[in-house]
Parts: sequence; C-alpha cells; structure tokens
Amino acid sequence: MTLSKIACAIHPSPTVALNEQARILHERGEPVIHLGVGEPKNKTPFAAILSSAAKLNTGEVKYEPTDGTPSLKKAIIRYTEENYERLAAPQNIIISDGAKQSLWNVLFAILNPQDEVIVLAPYWVSYPEMIRMVGGIPVIVTPENGSFIPTFEEIERVVSSSTKGIIVNNPNNPSGAVYPEELIAKIVGLCENKGIYMVCDDIYHKLVFDGITAFPAYKFTKKDIDNSKIIAINGVAKLYGMTGFRIGWVVAQRNLVEILTNIQSQTTTCVSPVLQAAAEGALTGVQSNVEALRLSMQNNRDLLMQELRSFTDVLCIRPQGTFYAMPNFQAYCNNGLIKNSVELSEFLIRNALVVTVPGKEFGMENHLRLSYAGTANDLMEGLDRMKWALDPNAPSEIYIGDRKVIRDWM
Ligand code: PMP
Repeated sequence: MTLSKIACAIHPSPTVALNEQARILHERGEPVIHLGVGEPKNKTPFAAILSSAAKLNTGEVKYEPTDGTPSLKKAIIRYTEENYERLAAPQNIIISDGAKQSLWNVLFAILNPQDEVIVLAPYWVSYPEMIRMVGGIPVIVTPENGSFIPTFEEIERVVSSSTKGIIVNNPNNPSGAVYPEELIAKIVGLCENKGIYMVCDDIYHKLVFDGITAFPAYKFTKKDIDNSKIIAINGVAKLYGMTGFRIGWVVAQRNLVEILTNIQSQTTTCVSPVLQAAAEGALTGVQSNVEALRLSMQNNRDLLMQELRSFTDVLCIRPQGTFYAMPNFQAYCNNGLIKNSVELSEFLIRNALVVTVPGKEFGMENHLRLSYAGTANDLMEGLDRMKWALDPNAPSEIYIGDRKVIRDWM
C-alpha cells in the first residue's frame, strides 16, 4: 500500500507530542513539571461557560452557517473595530476550529504548488509543515545578529517572483519578541508594493509587557479590509486560556473569505455552535480576566529572568510578550555527551522531570523554549531542577518528592 508522499513527509507537532509525553508521565504519578506547554492554567471565563451552557440548554444544537454564527461574527466585528480600527463586514470574517485551522485554510487558499512563504525564525513549529502540506515552500529568515528580530533588509532579500506571503506572528512564539513598529510598517509597505499576502498571526496580541504594544499591520495602511492583502488571524485560545474550545477566526478581504468558506464547507461543514457561543461569551463578557492573565504572565516572566541569571553560561533575551522565553543553552549543547537542543531537552526530562521544547523545532538550535504559562511555583521548581541537572558541581543525586533521581552524566 502506498501512501501520499506529501502526507508521509509531515512531521508530528513536537509540542503536541511533548504534551502527550508529559501527560503520560503525570498519569504514572511522576512529579513532572511541564515548561513546554502553550496554555495558561486559568479557568474558563464565566461568561463563556454561561453562554455555551445557554446554547446547550436550548436543545437545538444543529448545523450552523459554515463561516460562523452571526452573533459570534458580530462580536468579532466589534473586536476588529476596537483592536484594528477597521470596520469589518460579516463577509470579511470566517470562524474555524482554532487559529490552527484558520491558518491552514488560509495557506491552502493562497498557495499554488511551489509558491514561497516567508517565515521569520524563530517560528511557531507548525508554519513550515503547514506550508509544505499544501505544496508550498517555506523560506526561513534567520536574524544574522543572533537576536530574535530579523532586519527588514534580511526579509527583503529573500523576496522572489514566487513569494506569495509572509507570516508575522507578533508577539512571537517561541521567543516572546515583539516586532518593532518600524519593522511592521516596512513589512506592510513591502507586501503592498509586491502584492504579497501578509498573514498576521495575532493570537498573543494582548499578552504584551512593560507597556509595549504589538502594533497590528492595519495601523500602517490606509486600505480597508477589502482592498488589503493583510490577513489577520486570531482566536480565544491564548488570551482567554480557552485552548480546548478550539475557536479561531480570520479577518480578510471578502473574495478570500469566500474561498475559505468553500474549503471549510467541504471539510468541516461548520464549527460547533456550542463552542462558538462560548467564544462569544468570552469576547462580550468582562475583559478583566485578559488583563489579569497578562499581569500574571508578566510576573512569571520577571521571575524567570531573575532565576535564569543564576544559571551558568545561559543567556536569555528578555521576552516582551506571550508566555514563552527562549534562553540560549549553547554551553550545554556541545559538550560531547549532549550534541544539540533535542538531546538537552531529553536529558532534562530524564534527569529533572522537566519538559522543555528544543530550539531546533523552532529553527533555532542551541536554545530551549520555556513556557511560563503555568504557576509561579511550578516555574521556580522546574528552573531549580534544571539548574541542578546542569550544574557539574551539584550533588549527583536528589529527591524529587519521594523519588530519588540520579543524574546520568557529568
Ligand atoms: N499560532 C500560534 C503562534 C500558536 O502558538 C498557536 C497555539 N500554540 C496557534 C496559532 C493555534 O491556536 P489554536 O489553539 O487557536 O489553534
């Protein structure tokens, strides 16, 4: 039996695989600390629960329009006006099963085989795989100066006649970097000049720290949604901690939304109206939980930065948003026994029961992505264990709970 070459070439999502590994360890009773996870620990906002429960209580949970329920679209129109200063029509919006599906639909809709999409490293693990899945070619731009923010010239240099789009995830998963206003403005200009789609993955856009703003692309164009090649993707997973509700959406020109709707009508029919009701509740309910989440992430970021200072030879560019940081562990990735970030991450699970994500998966070797979306206690405990495991002068065995751990190298 032969299978599809494209499908067989797709790698599993490493972050999803690590989540599964952490879950299995946890179920086995291992005191695992998950610094790999991309979801906040908060409870679902009450307004979301009430709203979805009300929909369930009607007993009328049926097929709904493919592009989303009119009432959730209304809430998204208001969200778009407030956050992007653009008046969206219902025809400019399509709701999908999470921002992940939104993104996949967009790539499927805009790419012909061999079209190129520019991806800025470090990048979210799914971008290159999704681009390849729909026959496109990811063109990775890695900042040459060792930072997490490429220069405009580095981006401009890779634009070719095959470039169809650029994905900009601001603030950035995995680095926590917020792209400067000037860079976003220049990318918008470049896309307009060359007729390139600017795919803005704005899923973390309100999780920014120290008074910094992640400027939306729309700020730098006078064009309205229907005349612009900006495609804004958003969702409730991160800002509201509603990862399990699987609601994401696209705001884009209506011609594109029409194609996206055709695609979704053939693959999904519609998104669950119960979950759409939950998202509507989150968007229209009190917004103080978003600010509370932002503040607790900023606090965790501060704790992380302070604790990382006590590690030997680990440098970390201060994250300005999201709930991730990507410290440089180069000193530990080339020591004969451990050769790269994948092996370092495996070492930390084995020896310290701490889950991290190897930088390699994000196009940035010698780094680890650490998530601080969990509790401050878990974060501190996880970092303490990592420090022990990496310190050649520390005792070679410790107790984690009542489990004796013996370091297997150094
Ligand atoms: N974009 C980025 C950058 C993400 O980090 C994630 C989730 N990890 C998504 C999109 C997908 O979000 P959703 O859960 O809504 O599919």
